[in-house]
Amino acid sequence: MNKTFKILKFTHPYLPLIALNTLFNFLSVLFSLFSISLIIPILGILFNTIETPVIHVEEFSLNNLKNYFYNYVSSIINEKGDLAALAFVCVLVGIGTVLKNVTRYLALYCLTPIRNNVIRDIREKMYSQLLQHRFKFLNKFKKGDLVARMTNDLVEIEWSIMGVLEFFIKDPIHIILFLITLIYISPQLTLIALIFIPFTALIITGVSKSLKRSSLLSQDKIAEVISTIEESITNLKIIKAFNSYKLSVSNFDNHNEDLKNINNRVLWRKDLASPMSEMLSTLVIVAVIWFGGKIVLTSSLEADVFIGFLLIFSQILPPAKSLTTAFYSIQKGAGAVERVLVILERKTKSKIELPSIYDFKDSIQFKNVYFKYDEVLNLEGINLKIKKGEKVAIVGESGSGKSTLIELLLKFHNVSEGMVVIDDNNINDINPKGLFSLVSQDVMLFNDTILNNLRIGKRDATKKEIEQATKESYIHDIIKNLDKGYNTIIGPKGTNLSGGEKQRLSIARALISGAPILIFDEPTSALDSESHNYIQNKLMNLDNSKTLITITHKLHAIEDYDYIIVIKKGKIVEQGKHAFLLEKNGVYKKLYEIE
Ligand code: ADP
Ligand code: MG
Repeated sequence: MNKTFKILKFTHPYLPLIALNTLFNFLSVLFSLFSISLIIPILGILFNTIETPVIHVEEFSLNNLKNYFYNYVSSIINEKGDLAALAFVCVLVGIGTVLKNVTRYLALYCLTPIRNNVIRDIREKMYSQLLQHRFKFLNKFKKGDLVARMTNDLVEIEWSIMGVLEFFIKDPIHIILFLITLIYISPQLTLIALIFIPFTALIITGVSKSLKRSSLLSQDKIAEVISTIEESITNLKIIKAFNSYKLSVSNFDNHNEDLKNINNRVLWRKDLASPMSEMLSTLVIVAVIWFGGKIVLTSSLEADVFIGFLLIFSQILPPAKSLTTAFYSIQKGAGAVERVLVILERKTKSKIELPSIYDFKDSIQFKNVYFKYDEVLNLEGINLKIKKGEKVAIVGESGSGKSTLIELLLKFHNVSEGMVVIDDNNINDINPKGLFSLVSQDVMLFNDTILNNLRIGKRDATKKEIEQATKESYIHDIIKNLDKGYNTIIGPKGTNLSGGEKQRLSIARALISGAPILIFDEPTSALDSESHNYIQNKLMNLDNSKTLITITHKLHAIEDYDYIIVIKKGKIVEQGKHAFLLEKNGVYKKLYEIE
């Protein structure tokens, strides 16, 4: 429940709407009470038990109001007959019912924007948190799990929030107003009815606790199923190539079967809510009839008042039932709330507040940097300096830590020890916006037009800038020949282009961004040698204000680089120019010869 209250802070902006909703609920209950209470005078007219009451004019009280009413009804009976009086009361019931339902609709009308806005707000916050979380944190989740948290879990939370509003506002208003009326009619009978409440509450809490447990399991399982679907779609080529349908299907079936079993358990418990509260409430009614009947028979209570009492009492039951259902929704949503809070609550250092240096002036330095993902050390004692305008290559076997090194520079992770410094600033204290442009090992394109994909790093890039970059990346002619040219939509994951074309697009995107530091992580692995040489040549001729850091296996392409860093098992083992490294006859020479 505590966690659910944390989510409730998202309802704060909508407090005025909640107040309106409460007001309309209140009015609706009042009108409904009014209509139902009229059953007593109706019975009175039918049984002919209406007497002219005495009125104390000076005081204004509920009792007096009732007396006025009875006075009026009996005057109608005397002047126009019973039928006219009956018609009068029935018209009042009709008016009460119309007003009750109009206000009930208005209450719901105010509720709709509350639920939808709150969910929109939570999703918006989750999305922005998601983009700011560290990879170390996000890597713990499967993609599908994150998707489930932002969709499926939010549906549960929506019900949970509705549950809270019903449990703490709507149902209590209903119950309290009806209770006051009941106490007014007969305190004795009301007391008898209330004795059963603690038992009922005890039983309901017991069931709801186990409901909460199974619903958390269920949300986790749904996330797993979605992840499996997501992974299979991503890896469909592999599944087809290895002909592993059976394995995938049986793996999926297992998850799907588990989900079914857990959901059975959840629903069995949730479905208990309604029959259980009905059973308990009927038992209470029977008890009230028994005790009430005795009081009527000893004739200290009028029969028509007793029937009216029973009727009003039976109207307390739906909100009491709704109270249990609401409580169950809150418990059922608690699992989802926990899953969503994990994403919402994790502290992310706001990059937006840090000062950004758009202008790279002097150098990048790694000062005795250590880094580990989990327990294993991935980088040890890294010291290096890259000056502005230098063309630097990082080489080494795969798994040696090259990508990790540049990811530290990009602030994807936090260093475990030491620091990364740009000019004179520790990168932890600055916002690297506009400083880097990355072309990574796996090409990342969005399902959008080529133009929009190219403009990600610079929204207002001119046509000229774009064409210059696409020409340098050897892709302009290919784009030109597409049906819609630059406005061609690249399919999801860029499937309408070949691997090499996608790589060239992402190189063009990096060039367009205008960032002073270009980072290329094996960007040319899928390129044919012609376009590779062409692009390398263009990169070498970038103007001196651009700093280039390239990770590559194609050592022939980096012979002219200013500086080459050789990494082995997380340590820098050699560094210098190509000729110097060759002469050293060490790790670099071996790599160079293998190639
Ligand atoms: P390279 O780019 O040189 O091929 P990486 O920097 O990608 O090497 O990886 C260096 C080491 O870190 C490898 O042993 C790899 O298994 C490990 N590693 C990479 N990414 C992660 C991660 N997200 N979690 C845990 N270990 C990782
Ligand atoms: Mg790598």
